[in-house]
Amino acid sequence: MTDSDPDPSPETDQDATATADAETLAERVRAGDLRLHELEEHTDADTATAARRLLVEAQSGASLDTVGRYAFDAAAADPNIENMVGAVQIPAGVAGPVSIDGGAAAGDYYLPMATTEGALVASVNRGCSVIDRAGGATARVTASGMTRAPVFRVDSVVEAEALASWVRDNHAALKGAAEETTNHGELEEVKPYVVGDNVFLRFRYDTKDAMGMNMATIATRAACEVVERETDASLVALSGNLCTDKKPAAINAVEGRGRSVTADVLIPREVVEKRLHTTPEAVAEVNTRKNLTGSAKAGSLGFNAHVANVVAAMFLATGQDAAQVVEGANAITTVEVREDGLYAAVSLASLEVGTVGGGTKLPTQSEGLDVLGVRGGGDPPGTNADALAECIAVGALAGELSLLSALASRHLSSAHESLGR
Ligand code: NAP
Repeated sequence: MTDSDPDPSPETDQDATATADAETLAERVRAGDLRLHELEEHTDADTATAARRLLVEAQSGASLDTVGRYAFDAAAADPNIENMVGAVQIPAGVAGPVSIDGGAAAGDYYLPMATTEGALVASVNRGCSVIDRAGGATARVTASGMTRAPVFRVDSVVEAEALASWVRDNHAALKGAAEETTNHGELEEVKPYVVGDNVFLRFRYDTKDAMGMNMATIATRAACEVVERETDASLVALSGNLCTDKKPAAINAVEGRGRSVTADVLIPREVVEKRLHTTPEAVAEVNTRKNLTGSAKAGSLGFNAHVANVVAAMFLATGQDAAQVVEGANAITTVEVREDGLYAAVSLASLEVGTVGGGTKLPTQSEGLDVLGVRGGGDPPGTNADALAECIAVGALAGELSLLSALASRHLSSAHESLGR
């Protein structure tokens, strides 16, 4: 900076007033006149956020200077956070471009990823480049549906069976009540599960471009009112954990939740040898011994190398619910040697994604969706979320190919070393 350069961030009268307002509000919280979550009722969202930083800084001794330098209006985050003090910034990068022939995605894509794990983007990028040399990946969403499973109390197994039968015979009444609450959601199935005097009803919805957890919960609440009115069952909890949201669960792996999506690629042998420095046989052996046998022995739900890495990074970059990486990473990687090269596929059973609602509306996350061309509602509805699922699946495939090959090539080089001596 030269002497003649203006100060890049001079404090304006407006800034000074906001700082004074924040200090006054912080003082009122200290005095017990206001509660931490009530600040937005007395000022704008940014000043409320600054006041909370002052309180936390004074109490903890931490400096929140960087957390306080966020690039969007705090009011934009109002539906997403309470007691906001600022924003955590996660470095964002891209892997690709990679060519995708999907049911909804079509073309060359840069895959946006937010992560703090060095080498992750480079690894996925290497996988993308190999997929491209092979002519691109194919991806398809093979099943779709967001679930909510309330639990009801009944008197006996006789009443449990009566409720299950009633649900099967009255799908139209449940569908009517549920769909009253939403313009986009469609109730597709209600599946009863009986355990003693508990009846779980697993509602499954087509939520189009929304991840759909709020939508499905609100719609299910309305349907439960009909169940309670028309049967002897009593609702105990709107979520009975058979949904299953944000917990590792076999039901998601078997029946799916959100999008079930598979991506695959056939890589010519010479590309495997030249670009991945290994052979189709070696990659297939690592996959069988590690991803299949090792995972089986460990009792894993996911049989893969590191799908969670790509799911987490793309979830963060595109505003998905980060806790749903738990089931999003529930994937099986399959690899086989074919006459013309190496066939590899990744099948994600329960990838819960949306391009509307939740964190997708935040400005930086919307830009992540823009990189993939899937921000907002699709035409027809549901196609943007399908395309996002397909892009994540191809990213996961790229990550698997890169890591499996790295392991296989190290195995080969050590085998050559020992054999050559
Ligand atoms: P939401 O932000 O609550 O709702 C999105 C809304 O967008 C839909 O309800 C729909 O309105 C509207 N919409 C507009 N265009 C659409 C389109 N093309 N396709 C589908 N909907 C469209 O989001 P949500 O996806 O239902 O739920 C996600 C949020 O739930 C996240 O913030 C997540 O963290 C949170 N969450 C909630 C629970 C829970 O138990 N409630 C659990 C886990 C996560 P209409 O319904 O009127 O059509």
